[in-house]
Amino acid sequence: MTWKDPVKWEAMKNGKDCPFCLDIRLEENPYSFKVAELSQSIVRLPRNQYWRGWVIVALKRHATELFELTADELSGYWQEVALVAKAVQRVFHPVKINYAIYGNLCPHLHCHLFPQQIGNDPHAPIKQNAEEVFLTEAEYRQIIKELQAVMNGSFDSIK
Ligand SMILES: [Zn+2]
Repeated sequence: MTWKDPVKWEAMKNGKDCPFCLDIRLEENPYSFKVAELSQSIVRLPRNQYWRGWVIVALKRHATELFELTADELSGYWQEVALVAKAVQRVFHPVKINYAIYGNLCPHLHCHLFPQQIGNDPHAPIKQNAEEVFLTEAEYRQIIKELQAVMNGSFDSIK
């Protein structure tokens, strides 16, 4: 679904039949695993890890644009994005983290975190779904455990 169907798109922007609202709180959905529920956001690990370390920080409530948030929500949301980025840094050791808010397929505010590794082309666009790379259940669980540990301050004790 995109804005190519203006009626459905407007409904989705208003939170009607929004796929994120329906399943971002689930422990698992067809696309991702829940990593954490924070004050303003839900953190999810996509099953497709073609872009290794790709994590999504979705606003808990439905909103489409940053300007729809109150000042407190906006501040809290970005603090949580930063916390998740810190976890991505500790777990995946990127040379840079990219932060991307599109919403072109689902207009529910969410920020993608893409770790960039030294071998990556800094000029290349990120196509996180160009291929599908699925991990084992144990590998997903390990990543989730490590991200959670950084976020709750206990990372060093599990390593
Ligand atoms: Zn929504």
